[in-house]
Amino acid sequence: MITYNAPIDDMIFLFEKLRDNKHYNEIKKYNEINSNLARDILGQAAKITENLILPLAKAGDDTPCVLENGVVRTPPGYKKVYEKFIQDGWTSLTCDPKYGGQGIPKTISIFFDEMLSSASLSFKLYSELSVGAYNCIFCHGSDSIKKKFLPKIVEGKWSGTMCLTEPICGTDLGLLKTKAIEQKDGTYKLSGQKIFITSGDHDLTENIIHLVLARTPDAPSGTKGISLFLVPKIQVKEDGSLGSKNKVSTGSIESKMGIKGSATCVLNFDESIGYMIGPKNKGLNSMFTMMNLERIVVGIQGLGISEIAYQNALIYAKERKQGKSNNNKTTNGADLIIDHVDIKRSLLNMKSIIEGERALSFWLAQQIEVSLYHSNNKIKQEATDLVSLMTPVVKSLFTEMGMEITSDAMQIFGGYGYTKDQGIEQLYRDNRITPIYEGINAVQSIDLVFRKLFISNGHVIEQYIESIRKEIKKNQSEIKIKPFAEKLNHYLEILVNFTNWIKTNIKEHKDNVSAACNDYLKVLGLVAIAFSWLKVLEVTYKELKNNKKFFENKIETANFFFNRVLPRIDAYYNSAVSGSKYIMNFKFD
Ligand SMILES: Cc1cc2nc3c(=O)[nH]c(=O)nc-3n(C[C@H](O)[C@H](O)[C@H](O)COP(=O)(O)OP(=O)(O)OC[C@H]3O[C@@H](n4cnc5c(N)ncnc54)[C@H](O)[C@@H]3O)c2cc1C
Repeated sequence: MITYNAPIDDMIFLFEKLRDNKHYNEIKKYNEINSNLARDILGQAAKITENLILPLAKAGDDTPCVLENGVVRTPPGYKKVYEKFIQDGWTSLTCDPKYGGQGIPKTISIFFDEMLSSASLSFKLYSELSVGAYNCIFCHGSDSIKKKFLPKIVEGKWSGTMCLTEPICGTDLGLLKTKAIEQKDGTYKLSGQKIFITSGDHDLTENIIHLVLARTPDAPSGTKGISLFLVPKIQVKEDGSLGSKNKVSTGSIESKMGIKGSATCVLNFDESIGYMIGPKNKGLNSMFTMMNLERIVVGIQGLGISEIAYQNALIYAKERKQGKSNNNKTTNGADLIIDHVDIKRSLLNMKSIIEGERALSFWLAQQIEVSLYHSNNKIKQEATDLVSLMTPVVKSLFTEMGMEITSDAMQIFGGYGYTKDQGIEQLYRDNRITPIYEGINAVQSIDLVFRKLFISNGHVIEQYIESIRKEIKKNQSEIKIKPFAEKLNHYLEILVNFTNWIKTNIKEHKDNVSAACNDYLKVLGLVAIAFSWLKVLEVTYKELKNNKKFFENKIETANFFFNRVLPRIDAYYNSAVSGSKYIMNFKFD
């Protein structure tokens, strides 16, 4: 039986001690978002995730969504908990008060995202896509569209989807075929099929607002001819009340390996009425508002699932007795498996990655807020570029680490991990989608290396590296932190060399660079996590006396990360600079 305790102490520690971004602290509207409020929100969040949402994970896995008479039914218990969820205002957490939201920053909501992912990813997805749709409409919709659709989405009475994928078009959206024909009244009629649509249909909300990518007849081919449309499942009258059903039907739902409580639908649009959002043929840009934030949240899904897998593996390791450990504790009978060095290593590997990722995501949450709300455009742009650089890193690295951690957690359970009884194998299955959806990880690493590294002529990565150098320099004279700073310095120089190697190879030896993208993403990601750990350590040594147990634990966990995880960089780098010849020379028969 899987259990979960939200790691509030670590979250509050980050919120109180690492809210150190000067520009974030300059955002006036957040002046009153203090530790008491954060504690209060996270305390409530822990209650609902631990008590009400966690049981839905197993319920959804045992009794997946079904399609009955054209309508999707969610698993037992989902409806009741969703009602409570929206009643308590959880869908409105980060939304603008103008539309009924609470205006809470991502420096708090990112922790709620993690808790929800830990408790039940399937349940989370219903509200997650709604928040994504809200962000997209908020940024690109006209005033009348915002007025008509946003309040109900914020309230949670209507949910949202993002409809990109079609049978022949997944990663390559330039191939998409769905057509949109303009009508005399300025609306559009959309026809085509979308597949794999998360929350495409369900019984939790009165209406579903689909954000659909499609082409007008005169659109150029490829990605330059894609526009974005809002297509409600049920049409909405001028006064905001529900009208007749739109022509959107659910063809089928997918039977999947994991996240079985989440409805993944084939949607057929048959002259469905829609409204264009943002400029014609620029739909992909508008959709990216939704997707970029979504990608970070998918990274957080990996982190949340890692946390619950770690917690349960730790509990099991403290209960299960097998064999004698090196430092044998019992004279007769077996020791607890946590006394075996390799089990301890595995648990610390999980813990050091998870806590480092959480610190990095908190740093990123501050950057996101600056990119959205700082009053100075130059500062806003710099933060936007940094968020852009780190988005594929967080999405891909956290979800891949999620695979490593859920697999290792299963391993700690031995044979009982592989059987269904303990529930740990579900975490592995549920996490397996995260490296796939919202842009497959391989393509994220290509985006990082071929596009993001060259934002502002490479200035962004240079600035980021420089900021790490400064932090290392600052800690050179701090005797206790120095060993960590020196290790980070060594691996930062590898990142610098790797970046230069890419710049040298990119014009003449493109295959070399393509073969190195995945490794580069991991090197940058591990350096970024180590940088976050360094900042955690600065606070830790200052505050050691105030909470000895918590902070000593941090130091030991950091020691593991710097000595046993960070050195993976050597292997990634050496493998990458061997180039592509051992790949491209091989001919598959
Ligand atoms: C459970 C689930 C939920 C989903 N939810 C949604 C949703 O809500 N909305 C939505 O629109 N879609 C959704 N998707 C679709 C998902 O985003 C796509 O499956 C994903 O983008 C990959 O597309 P594909 O499956 O067509 O794979 P393909 O694009 O065909 O890729 C196949 C393989 O080729 C590789 N590849 C492709 N192009 C390149 C390249 N240029 N360079 C190197 N390698 C490449 C990929 O990495 C992958 O390994 C969902 C999918 C699932 C399974």
